[in-house]
Amino acid sequence: MTLATTAPRRCRDDLEALARQAGRDLEEASAAEIVRWAADTFGDRFAVTSSMQDTALAHLVSQQVPGVDVVFLDTGYHFPETLGTADAASVTIPINLVTVRPRQTVAEQDATLGPELYRRNPELCCQLRKVAPLERALTNYDAWATGIRRDESPTRANTPVVSWDARRGKVKIAPLARWSQDDVDRYVADNGVLTNPLLDDGYPSVGCWPCTRRVAEGEDARAGRWAGRAKTECGIHR
Ligand code: SF4
Repeated sequence: MTLATTAPRRCRDDLEALARQAGRDLEEASAAEIVRWAADTFGDRFAVTSSMQDTALAHLVSQQVPGVDVVFLDTGYHFPETLGTADAASVTIPINLVTVRPRQTVAEQDATLGPELYRRNPELCCQLRKVAPLERALTNYDAWATGIRRDESPTRANTPVVSWDARRGKVKIAPLARWSQDDVDRYVADNGVLTNPLLDDGYPSVGCWPCTRRVAEGEDARAGRWAGRAKTECGIHR
């Protein structure tokens, strides 16, 4: 199957109604069924996002939708391993990697807002380097898929499989919402899916290097993200 090239343009009200109905209808559906619905419904107005922690979702979607757009936010603060994973994904999986960058480089941001904004105001740093770029990147899509899962953290425990992203006016799809880490690991092993090498180096959750540390035995998987701060999310999934 390939993406429909002339997906119908829908108004905001229609998209919201679609999202709410699908959220109910697809709660028990498999990840592959959810992806199929998204591809059939939105055609080329559907994109996947990936942090390049692993490429399970990108791989899963690409099996049904070869050439699907996969949006990767290059914040300027990624570990080399993450950039390497993105490069490798673009040549080993049938996807169209869409790398999105903030309006300012890190050097430009340092010059205008001072160095190490991530220490002084991580909310603003994430807004400038993740949230705003994603909103710009999603302009030409009606629906976007994310790999977030309910088991990742208490803040993600109620993630719907399909929901209305009112802030962006998009349908938000989380095909893996009901998966566990074991489900991801099994999919990765069964399909030879590319993963970020940092996952095997003490980083079960991979973000920007200034805001990510290794976790200790028994710690929550996301304990290494913005460690020592009240912040637990970058703001994309609020
Ligand atoms: S995770 Fe840290 S470095 Fe990355 S955008 Fe957010 S505050 Fe900035």
